[in-house]
Amino acid sequence: MSNVREMLARLNPTNVRFDIGRCGGAPALTAQDIAAALGMVTPGLGREVLIACWWPDGSKLDGASLARHLLAVIGTEWQRQGHELEEARMELSIAQTCAGWHEVVTPVLQRELTRTQSRWDAAKAAAWPREMPEMLPAIGRAALHELCWPDICGKCEGHGSLVVENLVQQCDECEGRGRMSLSDRTRAQLVGNPWPTVVHRAG
Ligand SMILES: [Zn+2]
Repeated sequence: MSNVREMLARLNPTNVRFDIGRCGGAPALTAQDIAAALGMVTPGLGREVLIACWWPDGSKLDGASLARHLLAVIGTEWQRQGHELEEARMELSIAQTCAGWHEVVTPVLQRELTRTQSRWDAAKAAAWPREMPEMLPAIGRAALHELCWPDICGKCEGHGSLVVENLVQQCDECEGRGRMSLSDRTRAQLVGNPWPTVVHRAG
């Protein structure tokens, strides 16, 4: 069966041709068939990403849809981070208050101080930067770029493994993934954050 993403791309203007060289056998699908099939894909972020990657003109028909689904996911995560920061900050404050209450910081209190401080540090490190709202459009575009144009590993050509002296070995270039991830530096550049600028965390 043909790659469904390539089928979807047939809805684009004829600059993309995946049907050339098809030597019979595959049923001829019209654009209407493909569009109808797309209509049966469960609505959601995955569907919007699929369309944005493989049928850009279709994405433009409802440009706000992808952003809407993306913001719903981001909003949930942002809320979770906010709760974690709030709880961690409160726990640390309570531990510090308890420690200040007594003249001697007992081992139990010290352990609690260390634990709550670690939780607070971890929550801050994991929190998105304050500039997130302004950065969102660029981050969305960069994420889409990475999803749509996966960088196939040149060494193993996407297989994740190589045959070396009659032995199958994991590709060391991509560590068996078959794709090369974008570097943090490239990601930072894509979102317009000059490297090695350190983003300002919340808190
Ligand atoms: Zn590889």
